[in-house]
Amino acid sequence: MAVKPLSAAKLKKFEALIQSELKESTAYVDDINKDQSIGARESSGDLSSYAYHQADQGSDTNLMEQTVMMMEQEREKIRALNDALQKIYAGSYGICEMCGENIDVTRLEIIPYAKYCISCMEKMEDKKRKQKK
Ligand SMILES: [Zn+2]
Repeated sequence: MAVKPLSAAKLKKFEALIQSELKESTAYVDDINKDQSIGARESSGDLSSYAYHQADQGSDTNLMEQTVMMMEQEREKIRALNDALQKIYAGSYGICEMCGENIDVTRLEIIPYAKYCISCMEKMEDKKRKQKK
């Protein structure tokens, strides 16, 4: 199967989609950054709030860990979205990095930053599953 590049109209659509997701993810990460700096300022203030934070540390830590994980995921997504944008400009968007075939457009509509086609993705996940066993 020959690779056929996406039409200019489709590329435009994906570019807009990626940019809006990028904006959302960036805003989300910014929000958390702001929240965390406010929290740090508060806890460095008076001792009574420090004691309160100590008592509540168990759930705080948990929440922090979750937030850090979410941040990591979001940052990963931002990286992938930026990569996808570069590919749009380079004319290699929508092509699987593994086999060089077209990635299904319906897949791109769900995950606009997908790097691999479904069959390569399945192969990789299969491998991962086998490695775990
Ligand atoms: Zn592939």
